Amino acid sequence: MQDFDTLLKNSAAAHGHLCPGQMVGVRMAMLGCRLIGLDEPTRIDQIKKLIVFVEMDRCTGDAVAYVTGAKLGRRSLKFKDYGIMAATFINLETNTAFRVISTEEARDLAPLYAPGIPEKNPRQLEAYKRMPDSVLFRVQKVRVDMSEYDLPGPTRKKVSCSRCGQVIRDNREVVRSGRILCKPCAQEAYFSEAKEITWPDMNWTPDQEEDQMFVATKALRHEGSK
Ligand SMILES: [Zn+2]
Ligand SMILES: [Zn+2]
Repeated sequence: MQDFDTLLKNSAAAHGHLCPGQMVGVRMAMLGCRLIGLDEPTRIDQIKKLIVFVEMDRCTGDAVAYVTGAKLGRRSLKFKDYGIMAATFINLETNTAFRVISTEEARDLAPLYAPGIPEKNPRQLEAYKRMPDSVLFRVQKVRVDMSEYDLPGPTRKKVSCSRCGQVIRDNREVVRSGRILCKPCAQEAYFSEAKEITWPDMNWTPDQEEDQMFVATKALRHEGSK
């Protein structure tokens, strides 16, 4: 793993700014990876062993994802919307998992660790750098039973919604009175009043110029064959 300063710098760049959340998140991820014995989580031989659950959609979550290399697209990053400053680090190979929780005491103790800094944000930033892990975090050893449908790898199951026809991957369907439904059709959607629309320039493609050339070439060939 890169050293702390490099990780912090790069994590802040990816996140958009340096903030107390980056400080806490980078340290949280370093501790979590150390506890599960993955010292190079983004390296090819370790990348498939790691699953990370984050429990907040805040600055800290970005830093945890950055340092661990956990990604939604790899299915290694799981989001649980708990509103809790915590993340769980799982080593699939050894089946060990630790939940690292950012303490509220750390917030209260920030003035003590960075007494010379009056402003809140810079003070927290400095204090969270100086605090030992034991003040910044509580750690729980936990058991996480991963469903085979939540693991990385190819899609294990595909079904179609009996109401709207939408294909549903990885066992996310709902069965009501024996009927398979997607979650939106089962009234579990975050949206409502869905209406299909058309939109301006709806035939746009990124390779439009080539596309037009293709059309032009076809027209020319047509001309030639007359
Ligand atoms: Zn931030
Ligand atoms: Zn449906």
